[in-house]
Amino acid sequence: MKTIETNLREYGHYINGEFIGSSSNKKIERKNPATGELVATFSLGSKEDTHHAISVAKNEFENGSWPKMSGEERGRILSRLSRLILENAERLAVIESEEVGKPITDARGEIELGARVVEYVASLAQQIHGQSYNNIGRNRTGLVVKEPVGVVGLITPWNYPALVFCHKVPFALAAGCTTVVKPSEFTSGTTLEIAMLAEEAGIPKGVLNIVTGTGEEVGQAIVDSPDVDQISFTGSTSTGEKIQSGSAKHSRKVTLELGGKSSMIVFDDANLEEVLDAAMLGFMVNQGEECCANSRLLLHEDIADKFLENLVEKVKGVKIGNPNNENTQMGALIHEEHLEKVLSYIKSGIQEGARLLTGGKRLTGTEHKNGLFVEPTIFDQVTRNMKIFQEEIFGPVLSVIRFKAANEAIAIANNTKYGLANSIWTSDVNKALNVSHALRSGTVWVNTVFDLAPQLPMGGYKASGFGREMGTMAIDEFMEVKSININTGKWTPHY
Ligand code: NDP
Repeated sequence: MKTIETNLREYGHYINGEFIGSSSNKKIERKNPATGELVATFSLGSKEDTHHAISVAKNEFENGSWPKMSGEERGRILSRLSRLILENAERLAVIESEEVGKPITDARGEIELGARVVEYVASLAQQIHGQSYNNIGRNRTGLVVKEPVGVVGLITPWNYPALVFCHKVPFALAAGCTTVVKPSEFTSGTTLEIAMLAEEAGIPKGVLNIVTGTGEEVGQAIVDSPDVDQISFTGSTSTGEKIQSGSAKHSRKVTLELGGKSSMIVFDDANLEEVLDAAMLGFMVNQGEECCANSRLLLHEDIADKFLENLVEKVKGVKIGNPNNENTQMGALIHEEHLEKVLSYIKSGIQEGARLLTGGKRLTGTEHKNGLFVEPTIFDQVTRNMKIFQEEIFGPVLSVIRFKAANEAIAIANNTKYGLANSIWTSDVNKALNVSHALRSGTVWVNTVFDLAPQLPMGGYKASGFGREMGTMAIDEFMEVKSININTGKWTPHY
């Protein structure tokens, strides 16, 4: 394990294998949202910086070695990257925790999962293959081949910067694409650190380029560029819609991983001891800044009162504070404006008549005075039309509704514009399967929650996006398919 550097980290863009400053010479300062300390500076990228990175990626795609390299070789390099991420895991976790405000223990889990995803992609790289047909007509051979899409622009959010990078970039690289990545302006550190590791692993210069800066400037320049062949985006539904409409004029492929409003459905035959811990994790994980948060708790009416009593008691004991402390269970929110947004949702819940069971306030005591902390908040007596039940809050706020029968629970869970990741808790396997089929979401967890495996695709129904990350199909997202129809006899016209 390498020594963990705690000094101020200063980064430039990473373009063509070099760290370079912005053409504007301006910087973004990132303060730890839990302590207010300055922890990093990033270059404030301009349109020119972005165009430079795109032209490097385009040149590398057209003339470089990466797109033509064998899958086996690309896989070997990605496997080295996975190992390097693990060797540097503690440093990456510290950076992730300081920039995002998440507990160090969660950040370690995130980095370790990211490394597992990269190792999985390495194993897929050499399995990319097409199809062949010798039964399509006399003297005809058909080949279906897959080719890398080209230059991919990848735009990522602030809540899981390292993990979302690993969900996207290695798949694009395994396909043979070249890339321009724009991380969130708040949390670019681990992306730039992983770029250094990628170079050490053997990824050629110019294949992976990172431009830091705002979505308005750098993100928009990626969207506006005719030289970007595909965009893979993770973030809010509203930004995703802008990216989709901006891409329409280039007729380009877009994959979108967007917001969510997912439910945890608890039947009366569930193991309620386990569900208590799961329900806490469901809305408090990553301070609730989690696209798959189970921020709606649907409780069977026979167990609701006692369950909520126990849940409130447990939630009151949660350790909220400095993410660097090994015992901390919940950290700080990302920035002041976001904290205000979360508090305004809590206010709206009270105004609309939901019953506040616990939480509801910003924490301001000695340990919390320099940070952006909100109490975990639970509302009972929530109704389907309330804002807190319909809108993505992206903070530690739980809305509870009771139900009598499975059909009613399904209807409540599906009553949302989103469709990302619901969970079901029951000991009846038939009920679990029937409800799983009826839920309109890209993931359904049964008697578990936030259980990610690199083999299982992730993505959304409805306003939660389209396209899938992880699993074998995630590489296909970054590939074009070409049919080659070969005549080996005398040619005659036919239809
Ligand atoms: P945003 O949509 O605000 O930002 C995501 C990224 O897009 C950032 O890098 C941002 O840049 C950039 N961006 C903003 N505007 C534009 C634009 N016009 N053109 C191109 N890029 C732009 O989301 P957040 O970062 O606030 O992340 C939170 C949201 O992400 C939540 O809604 C959450 O549900 C969703 N999310 C979804 C996940 C999923 O897998 N489905 C996973 C994680 C988060 P900037 O640096 O300026 O912010």
